[in-house]
Amino acid sequence: MVKAAQIWYAAFRMKLYNSLTQDQTLFTPVGDDVTLYVCGITPYDTTHLGHAFTYVTNDNLVRYLEYTGYTVTYVQNVTDIDDDILRKAAEIGEDWWALGNRWTRHFIDDLITLNVRPPDFFPRASDVVSEMHTLIQSLLAAGYAYESAGNVYFQVDKWPPFGKLSKLPATEMLPVANERGNFPDDPHKRDPLDFVLWQAQKGGEPAWESPWGKGRPGWHIECSTLASHYLGDSIDIHSGGADLIFPHHECEIAQMEPVTGREPFVRYWLHTAMVRYQGEKMSKSLGNYIGIDETPNETYGKVMSIPDKLIYPYFELISDVDLSELAEIKHKLNSADVNPRDLKKHLARTVVRMYHGEKSSKDAETEFERIFVQKKLPDQIEEFTLDAATCRIDDLLIITKTASSKSDARRLIQQGGVSIDGEKISDPFMEIGINREMILKVGKRKFAKISVKN
Ligand SMILES: [Zn+2]
Repeated sequence: MVKAAQIWYAAFRMKLYNSLTQDQTLFTPVGDDVTLYVCGITPYDTTHLGHAFTYVTNDNLVRYLEYTGYTVTYVQNVTDIDDDILRKAAEIGEDWWALGNRWTRHFIDDLITLNVRPPDFFPRASDVVSEMHTLIQSLLAAGYAYESAGNVYFQVDKWPPFGKLSKLPATEMLPVANERGNFPDDPHKRDPLDFVLWQAQKGGEPAWESPWGKGRPGWHIECSTLASHYLGDSIDIHSGGADLIFPHHECEIAQMEPVTGREPFVRYWLHTAMVRYQGEKMSKSLGNYIGIDETPNETYGKVMSIPDKLIYPYFELISDVDLSELAEIKHKLNSADVNPRDLKKHLARTVVRMYHGEKSSKDAETEFERIFVQKKLPDQIEEFTLDAATCRIDDLLIITKTASSKSDARRLIQQGGVSIDGEKISDPFMEIGINREMILKVGKRKFAKISVKN
């Protein structure tokens, strides 16, 4: 029997922009279970709309994949041991572990505010220290890494494909890496671009025992290890902010492909745009940020509930979305007559355009509306009366407002979600006799009682 997911997929082919191939590629997971890894936060300070954009975008993706019938296994990590945490903890005189816990809790509350579907696994980097040792040992044994004074480094020039994700020329790699956590002057490195897999304990730092002495892991090895530990050596989708492409994700690939023999490590690399605000990338260091728990302004607070109020600012702020279509919505927003549904509708269309391209966006809007916008169904069963003795099932779905069109009705039936008096319907053109009282059910949620007119 053909799975509902496949039917749905055939009717509705999703394209994703893959940073590795730099084009929109038809999304075809290896199985019915889609594996997704999203780089999580380093919990040392507040999270803002810039961070949230990544998690909300991936939330849309997860919900959409699940809606189309796939099972999604979603892992999001917490980088709980990192230079930034240790620096901040020393600055404010708080224990690094307590600081990390405090901001992780804060982040979880923010995600609850945003109503995102929680990841299936939310591991800390420090959960898999011994697994990191195993991966580092494989890299050493295969000749891609070297040890020096209790540190272990990846030797970049040993692996020629390095750079295949970012496409950065060798001369541009070092300045970018230096801005993002690299220490080029580390005297133990053979080359300034080599990156750390394991670092020897420095005074007062937390440390774990290892084959190379006490120390702690490098940032990049944490994500490679967590992704492969929970999802395997080759995963469907890996996502994160676009500023992680280099060096973080480039290094993740380099740590996996030479030793697992599985290529590609990640089949679809999805990167979310940087949120811009006041002309610059939104960032804590520049101070130009809006916290997730802040209300963007009075108007949003009055007319929209969370997370509706957050949707507009995302699209206003991100740099590569055409804002002209939003002008009318913005106008409405500033007048008294505001309908939050318009905003969600626009979100639906924008997201669908991102995933599918322009052509499908109109069709898909209806579907997205069903997933994201549909109001809570009434507790009471709705009653409909028909004056015919028989009725075709696709017509019946339209009459009861369960489907908006015949194609919509067919899609619902093909997904296997429609039943009448407990019996599943598989043929959309089936003629059914109208009983005195008949219960129509779509999925677990929607009911209609249909009676015959006397
Ligand atoms: Zn990561």
